Parts: sequence; C-alpha cells; structure tokens
Amino acid sequence: MAFFKKYNYSTIWGNALNYLKAQLGLQQATKKLYQVEKLDIPKPQLKFKEKVDNSETIWKPTLMYKPNSMQPLDLQLELKSDGTYEYCHPYKYELENFHPPSWQLKKKLTKRFQPLEDTPLYFIDKEDKLHDMLENLKTCSEIAVDLENHSPRSFQGITCLIQISTRDTDYIIDTLSLRSELHVLNDIFTKPTILKVFHSAEMDIIWLQRDFSLYVVNMFDTQKAAKKLEFPLSLSYLLTTCCQLNIDKNSKKNFQMSDWRKRPLTKSLLKYAREDTHYLLYIKDVLTNALIENNKEDLQSLLNVYKESTEVCKKVYAKPVNSEFSFLHVLRRKRKNFNNRQLFALKELYKLRFEVARRDDESENHVLSNSILIHIAEKLPISDKEILNYNENFLSENITEIKKINEQARKLPHAPCLEDIKNVHNKDCIDKIL
Ligand code: AMP
Ligand code: MN
Ligand code: ZN
Repeated sequence: MAFFKKYNYSTIWGNALNYLKAQLGLQQATKKLYQVEKLDIPKPQLKFKEKVDNSETIWKPTLMYKPNSMQPLDLQLELKSDGTYEYCHPYKYELENFHPPSWQLKKKLTKRFQPLEDTPLYFIDKEDKLHDMLENLKTCSEIAVDLENHSPRSFQGITCLIQISTRDTDYIIDTLSLRSELHVLNDIFTKPTILKVFHSAEMDIIWLQRDFSLYVVNMFDTQKAAKKLEFPLSLSYLLTTCCQLNIDKNSKKNFQMSDWRKRPLTKSLLKYAREDTHYLLYIKDVLTNALIENNKEDLQSLLNVYKESTEVCKKVYAKPVNSEFSFLHVLRRKRKNFNNRQLFALKELYKLRFEVARRDDESENHVLSNSILIHIAEKLPISDKEILNYNENFLSENITEIKKINEQARKLPHAPCLEDIKNVHNKDCIDKIL
C-alpha cells in the first residue's frame, strides 16, 4: 500500500478511470451483458446476405444513394480530434441546415392515443409488406421509432427489431430477415418534413447506421424533452404520468434484457415491443405543449430540444477498438489495486479475448467473463492444471499464449511505480492523462 501512496499511484488510477469514462461513454455502458437466459439459438448473422465486417478497417456507410439530399453523396475520410479517421456523416450538411417545420413549434390539441386493442399491428418480415408499410408512412407527417438490439452473441451487436407507430397503426419490422432491404427507409427517415419521435435515441441512431446505413433528419427525443422539463428520464415515468398506464418497471427491465433474436416472437414480447412506440406520438404532443408553456415568447426550450435531438442524429458509428486503455474498463467499480505485473497480464489477456471475439463474432464477455479475466490477471496462474480448472473453452484453446503472458508478467519488476507503468504503457498516453 505504501508504494501506491509514495508514487501517487491512486491519482494515476483515478485519472485513468475518469479518462476512460469519458472515452468509452455510452458505447461501453450499453455493452454490459446480462446473461439472463440461454443464448444458444442459431446465430442469425450466419444467414445475413451481407456478412458482418468485423475487420479493423474503418467503418464505412453502405448507402448507395442519398434520398432527400441537399448535397450529393460524397463519403470522405475525416481526421478526428483523437487522431483517428472516420467517414464523414452522409447527412451532415442536411442536419446542419435543418430547422423544424413551423407546425412542430405550435401548441397542439392533444388527441388521445388509440387503445392498443383498437390498433392494427403488422409484423413486417417480407419485402412486399415492407413496401406497403413505406407507402403508408409516406402519407404521415410524424412517426414514432424504437429499436431492439442484441449484443451477447455478436461482436458489434445486431438490431433485431425496428418498431414504428403512426397515429393509428403499429409496425414491427423483423430486421434480421430484412436486414439488407431496409435502406429504403432512408426515404422516410431523412425526409425533413416527416417528424421522427424517439425516446433516448443515442444508441438507436448508432444502431441504424451500423446495420442498415439509415440516417435520421427531423427528430424529437422525448427523453431530451423530459430532461428540459426536469422530469425523470425513463419512458416508464412518461407512460405513467402522460398516459396513465400502469408500468411495472421490473418487468420492463426483464423485457429489455430478453433475447430479441427469438423467432417467432412471443405475444408478450410483441406487446412489449409495440408499447415502446405506440404511445410516443401522444407523449410528444404533451411534452411539446409543456415546453411551449415554458417560454411562450421565444420557444427556447422547445427549440433547444430539437437542437439537441439533431446533435444526436449527427453521431457517427465506429467499430469497437482495443485502444491503449480499453482494458481498464473491466476494473471499473472493482476496487482492485493491481500492480504492474497484474496490469500487464490484464492488458494482454484483454487483447487476446478481444481478438477472439472479433474473429468468432462474439461479445468479449461471451468469450470469457470479466470476473474470470480479472481473476486470472490477479493470480497469474502458469500451470495447466490451474488454468484448466476454470473449465473455460477460451482458456484451454489459448493455454500456451496465456501461460506465456503470465510468465512474462511474473518476470516484471515488482514495485509498481510510475516508470514501470510508463514502460508497460505508452508514455505519451500516460502523460496526457496525468
Ligand atoms: P429500449 O429502447 O428500452 O427498448 O432498449 C433498446 C435496447 O437496449 C434493448 O433491446 C437492449 O438491447 C438494450 N437495453 C436497454 N435496457 C437494457 C438493460 N437494462 N439491460 C441490458 N440491455 C438493455
Ligand atoms: Mn429505445
Ligand atoms: Zn424498445
């Protein structure tokens, strides 16, 4: 312990963690995996017409044409502030020049939502149904949108459903079977005269890009509106207060965590999925009216919600990367003070697990749980018996490599001091965060 104090190790640690929190942000937060049920159904990725590209190449939008464009499609690589490159957002110009149509800035006589029982539900799993849906959506001035994602058995995650509600119809799109066809939705999603309402759109916007090259222009995020009005941020709260519905928060969580790859979907899963969008247009009306009440003269609150929602639409998807400090996120909230040997092993084991996950199109946690990863880095086992005792395929399949990492770790000088850390990591990187 004295060493840590002497070399101010805990400050380095604190800084590294803060750095990580900022760097990893939402992407890692949503990567938390909950294995609540068996995940042994056949991987739908194997049936995708276009194979998932888990390579290290920079992620590139696959859209071939750009509906509703103010500027022609021109995908260029851009240098980011962190020194890496990404393809520019295809709708950057349109989003920068977007202004909400005037009808969206007026108070509305809120027409109460239609009861679920009186609303038709269409399950869209064939191209002809998709085109019928598109024809109907083209006639709407506003739609509600939500997505369901699966990440435990995939490296980058896969969208399993897109739910869309109009004022009188609910749609659930089977995005596993229509994955390569869904780019046609850009006609609607990027049309600035059709309002798209989401609740907490950050990840949805990213998933739409990742899987379908879909973009959104003219979006209202009900969560941003709730925040502006100082309401609690959950959809459950809005459903309870705006719609007087009885929402069991625990059951909602269980549904969110269910395996959305399942086909056919059970009645209760379909009901849960459609409820995520069914009430959203009504909720948007209620929140819009409240925001207008906030500052009637200049509509600043409402305009800011549109501004913030548009900023979310400008986000660009990037593939997962194992950067200098990625491995540290597994220690978050673990209260472990690893020495330099353990940190070295953790970093190397993390890298090995990451590459296996990439190769096999699995999540890192599915390849090996964080808790076992940490345990091995902590104990540094070097005998076959100790390593095989964990009874993990990843460990037995990579036993030579793992023994080598742990042996190398054990040979490092013991005292954890700043110089050691700088030797193990990239000196410039450490200097930057101190
Ligand atoms: P939602 O917008 O609430 O329907 O959530 C969209 C997706 O986010 C779900 O399909 C899950 O993949 C993921 N998700 C949301 N909440 C949780 C949670 N509490 N635990 C794990 N995954 C979640
Ligand atoms: Mn959602
Ligand atoms: Zn949802």
